Amino acid sequence: MIRLQTYAAFSLLATTSAVYYAFSSREQFYPAMVYLSSSKICFVLLLNTGLVAMCTTWQLVKRIFLGTLREAEVEQLNEQSWREVVEILFAVTIFRQDFSVAFLAMVAALLLVKALHWLAQKRVDYIETTPSVPMLSHIRIVSFMVFLLAVDCIFLSRSLMPLIKNREASVAIFFSFEYMILATSTVSIFVKYVFYVSDMLMEGQWEKKAVYTFYLELISDLVHLFLYMLFFVAIFLNYGVPLHLIRELYETFRSFRIRVSDYVRYRKITSNMNERFPDATADELNASDATCIICREEMTTAKKLLCGHLFHVHCLRSWLERQHTCPTCRAPIVPPDNGRTASAQQHGAQPGVQLAAGIGAPGSEGATSENMNRRQAKLEAAASAASIYGRSFAYPPTNTLNRNGKPCRIVCFLPLSL
Ligand SMILES: [Zn+2]
Ligand SMILES: [Zn+2]
Repeated sequence: MIRLQTYAAFSLLATTSAVYYAFSSREQFYPAMVYLSSSKICFVLLLNTGLVAMCTTWQLVKRIFLGTLREAEVEQLNEQSWREVVEILFAVTIFRQDFSVAFLAMVAALLLVKALHWLAQKRVDYIETTPSVPMLSHIRIVSFMVFLLAVDCIFLSRSLMPLIKNREASVAIFFSFEYMILATSTVSIFVKYVFYVSDMLMEGQWEKKAVYTFYLELISDLVHLFLYMLFFVAIFLNYGVPLHLIRELYETFRSFRIRVSDYVRYRKITSNMNERFPDATADELNASDATCIICREEMTTAKKLLCGHLFHVHCLRSWLERQHTCPTCRAPIVPPDNGRTASAQQHGAQPGVQLAAGIGAPGSEGATSENMNRRQAKLEAAASAASIYGRSFAYPPTNTLNRNGKPCRIVCFLPLSL
């Protein structure tokens, strides 16, 4: 920030002196303007000032809506900017015949607007996983998303206009496409945030949240996939193969596939939770300390997992949205087929017994055993990752209690694909 200020001050000084020199040496307005637009040095200075003005506006917007960035946000920003710059350079090579100052300015603006979108996404993710977020943060993020959507729409209409007017392919296709993608992501982030707020208002017991979130992400992925393909074809027909798009296209497709398989797995486990997981008996509740480890509240009724651990049914459901292992002992909560259920019950349902049964069960097929070994390796990796971060994903730290002293939904530190 300090560096930008110093740089901005120097740029402004240099430009002012160039303009002053132009007017004092030419004495009249018109010749001075001719000099300013024809001199190479003046041109570079003006260009530089324009860039500085953009960066300053960006910093200002960031400061107003987001305040100081967290370390993770800065890291992500740096990482993504480099990737984006490389991709935009690829795009620029496609449109090299349209190259102009206006094009350069639009590219710079696009980069800055994109960076704001990444930050918005990251901030919403952070708010969703953080207990007791102050009201001001909510107001800020909502107004930020409205602001971003307005910016997207303005740029989108500006780049669509020449396309509609001239009816021929130009670099405006590129900007229209980029702002369409940005606008749809903003809407998707906003709706996801609305889901989060609704769930919070229902005290974390909105059972359908996972389903709605899935459909939201599915639709947004589908829209993006469609737009990417449309753009790909448009560029291919008019310019040639758009190399910079291949990675994005592949990643959108991949995320779409992972989303579907994650969801299928989640539905499989939660579809008949009542039948799949037996109710805990009064004796079992008394034998344990009758506290649900997920929400840390007392249980009067509970569901029992194969490993023998007990949880509230709604807590278990929201846990399954993110993890498919027992919150206490990390044994996988796979949909039990008949053989394995029998074996787990036979072993007296001790913690971890299901995992062991899965690996060492006599007569289990080679493929299953290999699968379980891989799963165990993953679990161990996850456990060591959790210990490195110094936080247990099973036991929420005391600061996850919000101001009312009520427990909040726990934060997930491990990837869903576990
Ligand atoms: Zn609970
Ligand atoms: Zn367990």
